[in-house]
Order: sequence, then C-alpha cells, then structure tokens
Amino acid sequence: MSEDIVVGAGVYGVLVALALARRGRQVRILEARSIASGASGGPGRRGVRANGRDLRELALMAEAYRAWPALNDTLDVGPCYERTGHLLLLEREQDLMSANARIQMQQSQGIDCRFLNADECSQIQSGLAQNVGGAIYCERDGVCDHEAFTRAVARQAQAHGVVIEENTQVVQIDVDDQKVTSVHTGDGRSMAVGGNLFLFANSGTAALVESAFDLKLPVWNACLQVMLTDPAPQIPITALIGHAHRTVSIKAHTGDQVMISGGWPGHWDETSQTGHAVPESVAGNLAEAAAVLPALEGMSIAEADASHLEAMCVDDIPIIDRLPGCANGFFAAGWSGHGWAIAPVVADLIVNWVEHDHCPALLDPFSLQRFGIHRRHSE
Ligand SMILES: Cc1cc2nc3c(=O)[nH]c(=O)nc-3n(C[C@H](O)[C@H](O)[C@H](O)COP(=O)(O)OP(=O)(O)OC[C@H]3O[C@@H](n4cnc5c(N)ncnc54)[C@H](O)[C@@H]3O)c2cc1C
Repeated sequence: MSEDIVVGAGVYGVLVALALARRGRQVRILEARSIASGASGGPGRRGVRANGRDLRELALMAEAYRAWPALNDTLDVGPCYERTGHLLLLEREQDLMSANARIQMQQSQGIDCRFLNADECSQIQSGLAQNVGGAIYCERDGVCDHEAFTRAVARQAQAHGVVIEENTQVVQIDVDDQKVTSVHTGDGRSMAVGGNLFLFANSGTAALVESAFDLKLPVWNACLQVMLTDPAPQIPITALIGHAHRTVSIKAHTGDQVMISGGWPGHWDETSQTGHAVPESVAGNLAEAAAVLPALEGMSIAEADASHLEAMCVDDIPIIDRLPGCANGFFAAGWSGHGWAIAPVVADLIVNWVEHDHCPALLDPFSLQRFGIHRRHSE
C-alpha cells in the first residue's frame, strides 16, 4: 500500500496520522526533533476557548466543544482536557460598550456566552482588580495539558501502526506533474510519497513551501513566553482568564502555581535554534497579570519559557490548504497563537477532505485564495 507522509509530530501531525491509520492507511511521521518539541509542548496548559476568537474560527470551536471531552476518554494518561469556563475581562468603556455585539456574534456561531457584571465575575474568580467592570463568560471553555495530550495521541498512532521518525528533518519536497513525489531528509535520504504528503511543521512549513513552490506565505515565526509562578495557594485560579485589551492570559497550574502568558515575545536565536525569555517581557507580562489580579504583584517566577515557536499569520487565522497545484499535498501554517483549541476538529476535516477530494465548507475561510493565491487543483 502507498504510504502517507506527515511532516511534524506536533498535535496536528499526530492527530491526522492517527485518523489516517484508523482508516487503514500506512503512515510515517518525519519529525525534525522529538514528539511535542514545538508549539504542542512546553510548560503549562493551552487554552481551549471560543471567547474572543476570530469570527471565522467560531464554527470550528462549536464543534471542538463536542470533540474535546470525548477525546479525554481515549487517552492512556487520564484526562488532559478540563472545562473551566473563560472570563474575557473588560475594563475600558469601549470594551464594555461593544460586549453585547461580541456576545451576539459568538452566539450566532453556536457559542454559549453571557455578560457578567463585576460582582458576578467575582463569584467566579475572587481577587479581581477594582477596574474590572465586567466580562464575557463562556462556560464551556477550558484548558488542556497539551504536551501530555500530544504524546498520548502519538502513542495511540504508533499502536495503530504509524511509524514516527524523530531527529529527521525534511529539507526538500519534490513535485512533478501536480503530484508530490518525494521528500528529502537532512540525513541525505530520499523517501517516495506514494500516498499524500501532510505538511504540519508549523514554524518549518513556510520555508518548505517557499523552496518547493517559490511561494512566500504571509506568515512569520514568533516565540511566545509562558511563565509559571512559585506556588501561590493564596491565589486560587478557578477559571481561564483573558482580557479584552491587556496582553495577558492566566490559568491554574498544578502544585498551586499560576501560569501567566498571553503573547509576550521571547528572543529566538537562529544559530542555536533555541528561544529564551527576556526580562522586559517577564516584567511586562507579570505587570499585566497583576493589573488583573493584584495579589500577583511581585510574585516570584519559577520558570519563564520562550522556546516553542509558533507561526503567526498576517490576518491572525491559519492557512489550511492543498499545496499549490498538488492533488496529493496538504499543509497548514500560521495558527497565530490559538491553533491548539481547534486541532481535533481541523485534523478530522483535513482527513475528510482527503477522503472526499473536496474541501469541507468549515475550512473554506482558511484557504490561500483569500490572499489571491489559488490552489489550482480542480476539485
Ligand atoms: C507559548 C504558546 C502558547 C499557546 N497558547 C495557546 C492557547 O492557549 N490556545 C490555543 O488554542 N493555542 C495556543 N497556542 C498555539 C498552539 O499550541 C499551536 O497552534 C499548536 O500546538 C500547533 O500545533 P502543530 O502541530 O501545528 O505545530 P507544532 O507543535 O509546532 O509541531 C510542528 C512540528 O514540526 C517539526 N518540524 C518543523 N520543521 C520540520 C521539518 N522541516 N521537518 C520535520 N519536522 C519539522 C517541529 O519540530 C515540531 O515538532 C500556543 C502556542 C504557544 C507557542
């Protein structure tokens, strides 16, 4: 049987590989480093939220609400996903005034949410700053232990016959007559692509697309900071917390630690291919968190990590499409810091696309066509 090749063993690579293997396909994953070494790994937990999300991704989140709890039951590590509710905090007059419009928009896409005044917010999360005037609340939002989940799905995939080659970087893709024919690896091997090629290399996708298709995707790589405080049992975090205008996200972490993130940048060193947190971002992120939860002011930080690259897209939603002109090639890039929550749904839709040779309607908004680039393969 012809083999499908998946590039990247992050959450997308392992979910798609598992779904293909379950349909009887032979699948090989080629991973430059190790399973969950990219954005799908690292400290803390990932938010699984619809609240505050781009309109074009909301229908995917409505489906994701159904997918995540069911996935928990299949894992060999116990539940990774937890429903906590998400408070999108509002402070500024203009954000309070526009809250109803966002609530309507989210509800129109099947997302349950409601406005909470300051007192109602305090009943969900104690210790909020006086400036918080209210919040949009999504009860079905939650968090997921991303690294444990990705590794658990990788094990399931292997149990279904998927071969995962770590320390295997793909450096070139060969295309002939509208077909991906082979990939070349950094250790000098050439592998035939008898089935389909799935490029889920996140930060590595754009470079491979550019060299094979002479096409520059409107994406760039960012290393995003995550911090864990020292244990703070006096500051119990009961919901996933985001903010309408501050760059901050707050989550509970094991051992009474508080996870603080939201999109502050670290520094990426191209030569060593590693990232590290920078003092300005650590101070800035902590200050934003303390502006929301004053008890966090001056908290000592146990860990600040910025070693996990994420590709960002110019219009803040991913590109999910066929490789240009190719009948047997698919890629995704530019998750823009929120690709985790929609992963189970997008992975299923991509496999559905392969099976039916037709782009599912839910993926239409993410095509290259929005940048005037056509996928050219006739569907
Ligand atoms: C700090 C941080 C916080 C985030 N928070 C959230 C959140 O709260 N909610 C949310 O929904 N999303 C969040 N995200 C985004 C989410 O984690 C990612 O969108 C998602 O994990 C992407 O999965 P992936 O499989 O596409 O990529 P990755 O997990 O990055 O996997 C890609 C893999 O490809 C490999 N690779 C790269 N190039 C090559 C190559 N040439 N050959 C072979 N392998 C290659 C890499 O080593 C990597 O393992 C966050 C991301 C980060 C970094």
